Amino acid sequence: MTHHYGYSIKRGVLPFIKDTWYRLSTAIRCSIENGYADLMLLTMKTWRHLTVEKQIKQHADTWLKEKYGMLTFDDYQTSAKGTAIYPKQYRLMYPALGLAGEAGEVANKIKKIVRDGEGKMPPDWKEQVASEIGDVLWYCAALASDLDIPLSKIAGQNKTKLENRQKNDTLQGSGDNR
Ligand SMILES: [Mg+2]
Repeated sequence: MTHHYGYSIKRGVLPFIKDTWYRLSTAIRCSIENGYADLMLLTMKTWRHLTVEKQIKQHADTWLKEKYGMLTFDDYQTSAKGTAIYPKQYRLMYPALGLAGEAGEVANKIKKIVRDGEGKMPPDWKEQVASEIGDVLWYCAALASDLDIPLSKIAGQNKTKLENRQKNDTLQGSGDNR
């Protein structure tokens, strides 16, 4: 019997504790970096067997909506201006290079998923990609500011352009003016 218990602890309990600790510590790290909702979402994703999954998701969605639901492109651009610290002579160039760099970081994260498979990724890999998309967004906002164009205008015009292409059935294909 003793042998049996020893076997259970080694094969069952210890890996469970190790796995639980890994998931918990990752969730806590995410929450510190990205906020309470991410902790909730991660908990939901990693412990899918929990019957409270639905409530947790609702809770996280409500929290995200309350915190960011009313954030506009222009609010974001104004906030990005406050954190844009680069010399005037590098305007346009600095955000354009940064944008290309951060787009590369997004691609690099996706490359690792293609190479190693989603199963080998840390539980928060989607949040990590999202964080890089956020960095891309910051450089978009900074570049738009250097051009004196509101980010909302860029978003709106792009939306109209794509809707027109959809209407004209030219979404696929190439060329700027179609
Ligand atoms: Mg980055």
